[in-house]
Amino acid sequence: MAKKLDKVDVVTVGVGWTGGIIAELTKEGYKVVGLERGGDRGTEDFHMVHDEYRYAVRYGLMQDTSKETITFRNKRDEHALPMRQLGSFLLGEGVGGAGDHWNGHTWRFLPYDLEIKSETDKKYGKDKLSDDYTLQDWGITYDELEPYFYKFEQITGISGEENPMGAPRKNDYPTGPMKSTPILDRFKKAAKNLNLHPIQMASANLSEAYENPDGETINACQYCGFCERFGCEYGAKSSPNITVLPTAKKNSFLMKEANWSK
Ligand code: SF4
Repeated sequence: MAKKLDKVDVVTVGVGWTGGIIAELTKEGYKVVGLERGGDRGTEDFHMVHDEYRYAVRYGLMQDTSKETITFRNKRDEHALPMRQLGSFLLGEGVGGAGDHWNGHTWRFLPYDLEIKSETDKKYGKDKLSDDYTLQDWGITYDELEPYFYKFEQITGISGEENPMGAPRKNDYPTGPMKSTPILDRFKKAAKNLNLHPIQMASANLSEAYENPDGETINACQYCGFCERFGCEYGAKSSPNITVLPTAKKNSFLMKEANWSK
Protein backbone atom coordinates (compact mmCIF):
# COMPACT_ATOMS: atom_id res chain seq x y z
CA MET A 1 0.00 0.00 0.00
CA ALA A 2 1.24 3.50 -0.83
CA LYS A 3 2.84 5.30 2.09
CA LYS A 4 2.48 9.05 2.33
CA LEU A 5 5.62 10.81 3.54
CA ASP A 6 5.98 14.32 4.93
CA LYS A 7 6.11 17.03 2.30
CA VAL A 8 9.54 18.48 1.50
CA ASP A 9 10.64 21.41 -0.67
CA VAL A 10 12.48 19.44 -3.35
CA VAL A 11 12.57 15.82 -4.49
CA THR A 12 15.25 14.62 -6.90
CA VAL A 13 14.64 11.50 -8.96
CA GLY A 14 18.11 9.98 -9.02
CA VAL A 15 21.14 10.95 -6.95
CA GLY A 16 23.94 11.36 -9.46
CA TRP A 17 25.61 14.64 -10.41
CA THR A 18 22.33 16.40 -11.16
CA GLY A 19 20.50 15.21 -8.07
CA GLY A 20 23.61 15.76 -5.97
CA ILE A 21 24.08 19.34 -7.12
CA ILE A 22 20.39 20.06 -6.52
CA ALA A 23 20.75 18.52 -3.05
CA GLU A 24 23.07 21.42 -2.27
CA LEU A 25 19.89 23.47 -1.88
CA THR A 26 20.03 22.17 1.69
CA LYS A 27 22.75 24.80 2.22
CA GLU A 28 20.04 27.41 1.73
CA GLY A 29 17.75 25.72 4.23
CA TYR A 30 15.57 23.76 1.80
CA LYS A 31 14.54 20.23 2.66
CA VAL A 32 15.61 17.86 -0.12
CA VAL A 33 14.86 14.17 -0.57
CA GLY A 34 16.71 12.15 -3.20
CA LEU A 35 15.10 9.01 -4.63
CA GLU A 36 17.71 6.56 -5.82
CA ARG A 37 17.00 3.14 -7.29
CA GLY A 38 20.44 1.72 -6.41
CA GLY A 39 22.29 1.48 -3.14
CA ASP A 40 24.45 4.00 -1.31
CA ARG A 41 28.22 3.64 -1.70
CA GLY A 42 31.41 5.50 -1.02
CA THR A 43 35.19 5.38 -1.36
CA GLU A 44 35.39 2.61 1.28
CA ASP A 45 33.45 0.31 -1.07
CA PHE A 46 36.23 0.49 -3.66
CA HIS A 47 39.26 -0.29 -1.47
CA MET A 48 41.45 -2.92 -3.12
CA VAL A 49 38.80 -3.98 -5.61
CA HIS A 50 40.37 -3.42 -9.00
CA ASP A 51 38.18 -6.27 -10.12
CA GLU A 52 38.18 -5.93 -13.91
CA TYR A 53 35.77 -8.78 -14.48
CA ARG A 54 33.21 -7.35 -12.08
CA TYR A 55 33.43 -3.71 -13.10
CA ALA A 56 34.89 -3.46 -16.62
CA VAL A 57 33.40 -6.63 -18.13
CA ARG A 58 30.25 -7.24 -16.06
CA TYR A 59 29.50 -3.51 -15.59
CA GLY A 60 29.19 -3.78 -11.81
CA LEU A 61 28.32 -0.09 -11.34
CA MET A 62 25.88 0.18 -14.25
CA GLN A 63 22.19 -0.33 -14.70
CA ASP A 64 21.17 -3.98 -15.08
CA THR A 65 19.81 -3.90 -18.63
CA SER A 66 18.18 -7.32 -18.27
CA LYS A 67 15.73 -5.72 -15.82
CA GLU A 68 15.34 -2.17 -17.06
CA THR A 69 16.84 -0.29 -19.95
CA ILE A 70 16.37 2.38 -22.58
CA THR A 71 14.86 1.82 -25.98
CA PHE A 72 16.51 2.93 -29.17
CA ARG A 73 15.73 3.35 -32.85
CA ASN A 74 17.90 4.50 -35.70
CA LYS A 75 15.12 6.01 -37.83
CA ARG A 76 11.73 7.54 -37.10
CA ASP A 77 9.85 4.73 -38.80
CA GLU A 78 11.67 2.01 -36.87
CA HIS A 79 10.10 0.36 -33.84
CA ALA A 80 12.21 1.34 -30.81
CA LEU A 81 13.64 -1.75 -29.15
CA PRO A 82 15.11 -2.24 -25.68
CA MET A 83 18.92 -2.24 -25.52
CA ARG A 84 20.05 -5.24 -23.52
CA GLN A 85 23.75 -4.69 -24.00
CA LEU A 86 25.60 -1.58 -22.89
CA GLY A 87 27.67 0.20 -25.49
CA SER A 88 29.47 3.52 -25.18
CA PHE A 89 26.55 5.02 -23.24
CA LEU A 90 27.01 3.53 -19.78
CA LEU A 91 23.97 4.04 -17.58
CA GLY A 92 24.94 4.49 -13.98
CA GLU A 93 23.03 3.10 -11.06
CA GLY A 94 23.29 3.75 -7.36
CA VAL A 95 24.27 6.83 -5.41
CA GLY A 96 26.69 8.93 -7.44
CA GLY A 97 25.38 7.36 -10.64
CA ALA A 98 27.60 7.71 -13.67
CA GLY A 99 29.51 10.37 -11.69
CA ASP A 100 31.03 7.51 -9.75
CA HIS A 101 32.37 5.50 -12.68
CA TRP A 102 33.16 8.32 -15.12
CA ASN A 103 36.72 8.85 -16.25
CA GLY A 104 36.81 12.51 -15.26
CA HIS A 105 37.09 14.37 -18.60
CA THR A 106 35.80 17.84 -17.81
CA TRP A 107 35.34 19.95 -20.91
CA ARG A 108 33.41 23.19 -20.91
CA PHE A 109 31.02 23.89 -23.77
CA LEU A 110 32.32 26.42 -26.26
CA PRO A 111 30.34 29.65 -26.82
CA TYR A 112 29.57 28.27 -30.29
CA ASP A 113 27.96 25.11 -28.88
CA LEU A 114 25.37 27.08 -26.95
CA GLU A 115 24.41 29.31 -29.89
CA ILE A 116 24.82 26.75 -32.61
CA LYS A 117 21.77 27.82 -34.66
CA SER A 118 22.65 31.53 -34.68
CA GLU A 119 26.31 30.80 -35.34
CA THR A 120 25.49 28.41 -38.18
CA ASP A 121 23.14 30.99 -39.73
CA LYS A 122 25.85 33.63 -39.34
CA LYS A 123 28.48 31.45 -40.98
CA TYR A 124 26.50 29.88 -43.82
CA GLY A 125 23.48 32.17 -44.26
CA LYS A 126 19.91 31.85 -42.97
CA ASP A 127 18.73 29.73 -45.89
CA LYS A 128 21.32 27.00 -45.46
CA LEU A 129 19.33 24.94 -42.94
CA SER A 130 15.98 23.69 -44.17
CA ASP A 131 12.89 24.05 -41.93
CA ASP A 132 12.92 20.44 -40.83
CA TYR A 133 16.26 20.89 -39.03
CA THR A 134 15.75 20.72 -35.27
CA LEU A 135 18.94 22.69 -34.52
CA GLN A 136 18.36 25.35 -31.85
CA ASP A 137 20.29 27.68 -29.58
CA TRP A 138 20.21 26.67 -25.94
CA GLY A 139 18.66 29.96 -24.85
CA ILE A 140 21.57 30.68 -22.54
CA THR A 141 24.96 32.01 -23.56
CA TYR A 142 28.44 30.95 -22.56
CA ASP A 143 29.01 34.27 -20.76
CA GLU A 144 25.94 33.66 -18.64
CA LEU A 145 27.07 30.12 -17.83
CA GLU A 146 30.76 30.86 -17.23
CA PRO A 147 30.46 31.57 -13.47
CA TYR A 148 28.58 28.29 -13.01
CA PHE A 149 31.14 26.28 -14.94
CA TYR A 150 33.70 27.73 -12.56
CA LYS A 151 31.56 27.00 -9.52
CA PHE A 152 31.36 23.35 -10.58
CA GLU A 153 35.13 23.30 -11.09
CA GLN A 154 35.67 24.77 -7.62
CA ILE A 155 33.39 22.23 -5.96
CA THR A 156 35.07 19.37 -7.78
CA GLY A 157 38.63 20.77 -7.70
CA ILE A 158 39.19 20.28 -11.43
CA SER A 159 42.83 20.03 -12.55
CA GLY A 160 43.88 21.61 -15.80
CA GLU A 161 45.84 24.20 -17.71
CA GLU A 162 45.09 26.96 -20.19
CA ASN A 163 43.71 25.59 -23.44
CA PRO A 164 44.40 28.01 -26.29
CA MET A 165 41.49 26.51 -28.23
CA GLY A 166 39.13 26.26 -25.27
CA ALA A 167 36.36 28.51 -24.08
CA PRO A 168 37.56 31.73 -22.40
CA ARG A 169 38.07 31.45 -18.65
CA LYS A 170 37.97 34.16 -16.00
CA ASN A 171 39.86 32.08 -13.43
CA ASP A 172 42.56 29.44 -13.42
CA TYR A 173 41.62 25.86 -12.65
CA PRO A 174 41.45 25.20 -8.90
CA THR A 175 44.33 22.70 -9.19
CA GLY A 176 47.23 22.43 -11.63
CA PRO A 177 47.46 20.00 -14.54
CA MET A 178 48.01 16.29 -14.06
CA LYS A 179 51.57 14.96 -14.33
CA SER A 180 52.81 14.07 -17.75
CA THR A 181 54.28 10.65 -18.54
CA PRO A 182 57.28 9.75 -20.75
CA ILE A 183 54.95 8.63 -23.55
CA LEU A 184 52.87 11.81 -23.22
CA ASP A 185 56.05 13.88 -23.31
CA ARG A 186 56.98 12.23 -26.60
CA PHE A 187 53.50 12.85 -27.96
CA LYS A 188 53.62 16.52 -26.92
CA LYS A 189 57.03 16.96 -28.50
CA ALA A 190 55.80 15.47 -31.77
CA ALA A 191 52.66 17.65 -31.67
CA LYS A 192 54.70 20.79 -31.01
CA ASN A 193 56.95 19.94 -33.97
CA LEU A 194 53.78 20.16 -36.06
CA ASN A 195 53.00 23.61 -34.59
CA LEU A 196 50.12 22.19 -32.54
CA HIS A 197 49.39 23.12 -28.92
CA PRO A 198 49.12 20.00 -26.77
CA ILE A 199 47.74 20.51 -23.28
CA GLN A 200 46.99 18.37 -20.26
CA MET A 201 43.23 18.23 -20.50
CA ALA A 202 40.99 19.29 -17.66
CA SER A 203 40.22 16.36 -15.40
CA ALA A 204 38.29 15.49 -12.29
CA ASN A 205 41.17 13.20 -11.34
CA LEU A 206 43.01 15.62 -9.13
CA SER A 207 46.69 16.49 -9.51
CA GLU A 208 46.93 17.36 -5.80
CA ALA A 209 44.89 17.11 -2.62
CA TYR A 210 42.28 19.84 -2.51
CA GLU A 211 39.68 21.16 -0.11
CA ASN A 212 36.62 22.56 -1.83
CA PRO A 213 34.72 25.68 -0.66
CA ASP A 214 32.31 23.42 1.29
CA GLY A 215 35.23 21.90 3.22
CA GLU A 216 35.12 18.53 1.42
CA THR A 217 38.52 16.99 0.68
CA ILE A 218 39.44 15.33 -2.59
CA ASN A 219 42.73 13.43 -2.57
CA ALA A 220 45.60 13.43 -5.05
CA CYS A 221 45.38 10.95 -7.92
CA GLN A 222 47.69 7.91 -7.62
CA TYR A 223 47.65 7.31 -11.41
CA CYS A 224 46.41 3.75 -10.96
CA GLY A 225 44.48 4.00 -14.24
CA PHE A 226 41.27 2.43 -12.91
CA CYS A 227 38.98 5.39 -13.51
CA GLU A 228 36.39 4.61 -16.13
CA ARG A 229 33.93 1.90 -15.05
CA PHE A 230 35.44 1.88 -11.54
CA GLY A 231 35.00 3.93 -8.41
CA CYS A 232 38.20 5.54 -7.12
CA GLU A 233 39.62 3.79 -4.08
CA TYR A 234 41.69 6.84 -3.18
CA GLY A 235 38.87 9.40 -3.18
CA ALA A 236 40.85 11.24 -5.85
CA LYS A 237 38.28 11.31 -8.61
CA SER A 238 35.59 13.91 -8.06
CA SER A 239 32.22 12.29 -7.73
CA PRO A 240 28.96 13.35 -6.10
CA ASN A 241 29.76 10.84 -3.33
CA ILE A 242 32.80 12.80 -2.09
CA THR A 243 31.74 16.37 -2.92
CA VAL A 244 28.15 17.59 -3.05
CA LEU A 245 26.46 14.68 -1.24
CA PRO A 246 28.53 14.74 1.99
CA THR A 247 27.80 18.49 2.18
CA ALA A 248 24.09 17.95 1.58
CA LYS A 249 23.98 15.13 4.15
CA LYS A 250 25.48 17.44 6.79
CA ASN A 251 22.41 19.60 6.31
CA SER A 252 18.93 18.18 5.79
CA PHE A 253 19.36 15.90 2.77
CA LEU A 254 17.60 12.57 2.99
CA MET A 255 18.31 9.67 0.66
CA LYS A 256 15.57 7.12 0.00
CA GLU A 257 16.34 3.93 -1.84
CA ALA A 258 13.56 3.48 -4.35
CA ASN A 259 14.88 0.25 -5.85
CA TRP A 260 12.15 0.11 -8.48
CA SER A 261 14.31 -1.85 -10.93
CA LYS A 262 14.86 -4.72 -8.51
S1 SF4 B 1 43.73 7.18 -8.27
FE1 SF4 B 1 43.60 8.47 -10.09
S2 SF4 B 1 43.76 7.05 -11.80
FE2 SF4 B 1 43.22 5.83 -10.00
S3 SF4 B 1 40.95 5.75 -10.05
FE3 SF4 B 1 41.54 7.45 -8.73
S4 SF4 B 1 41.50 9.23 -10.08
FE4 SF4 B 1 41.56 7.41 -11.40
